[in-house]
Amino acid sequence: MNTRQAELRQAAIELCHPPAQPGTGVISSWDLSIGVDGPGTRFVVFTCGCPLRCLYCQNPETWRRRDGHPVSVREVMTEIDRYRRFISVAGGGVTISGGEPLLQLDFTADLLRRCHDNGLHTALDTSGLLGDRMSDAMLADTDLVLLDIKSSDPATYRKVTGGPLEPTLRFARRLAALGRPTWIRFVLVPGLTDDEANVDGLARFVADLGNVERVDVLPFHRMAADKYRKLGLSFPLFDVAPPDQDLLNRVHAQFHAHGVAST
Ligand code: SF4
Repeated sequence: MNTRQAELRQAAIELCHPPAQPGTGVISSWDLSIGVDGPGTRFVVFTCGCPLRCLYCQNPETWRRRDGHPVSVREVMTEIDRYRRFISVAGGGVTISGGEPLLQLDFTADLLRRCHDNGLHTALDTSGLLGDRMSDAMLADTDLVLLDIKSSDPATYRKVTGGPLEPTLRFARRLAALGRPTWIRFVLVPGLTDDEANVDGLARFVADLGNVERVDVLPFHRMAADKYRKLGLSFPLFDVAPPDQDLLNRVHAQFHAHGVAST
């Protein structure tokens, strides 16, 4: 078994991991960010555990729940309260990210509900693979979904993530049917996700949804290489260069040609 196969096997194991005690979850960290994880200044909670292994993942420390630390919903809410005034004044809110937050469904649902009930803007950053697990009530507590669509082509999607594309597209269509505000994230990797037909397929799919406020085209970078090294993992795209401006311009033009706002 090669390294990639071993990692994908580990990813599948995350799906079978027993849930944490009620009212608790496993997280890697929390942090503040501006503008990239939803509007304004965000308090971002990075949950642990992911059923995918994206070749360009920037957060390999969040892949396995056993590498995180347990925390209660109450502890997270106490920490959020410390920043409440700061994030509210800046028009921000709370973003649950990962890893894959829907792997710890009860913990994530509890956090979203409490933040929402407290008048905080809530965002969920997800691959959509487990979108079927979200109830409509949980979606109602989620003011914004940051949906990562890593490719419009099933074969490329599987190559990038190790998983199937269809659950993500199904979740995107459900969000559209419910009219939930959504931002799409697409990581542009030269030689992997930059194929014209692949980008065109994504632009067409997004244009048909009707609920997508913007598409973030995220240029691939290698800044996580050191994290991989420290974890004893090899970074599969170590030799891939970030996209140049010409490629970025072409991809933005493709989205704009379908009437989709991309940043
Ligand atoms: S879904 Fe996100 S956290 Fe999981 S491997 Fe992919 S990029 Fe990393």
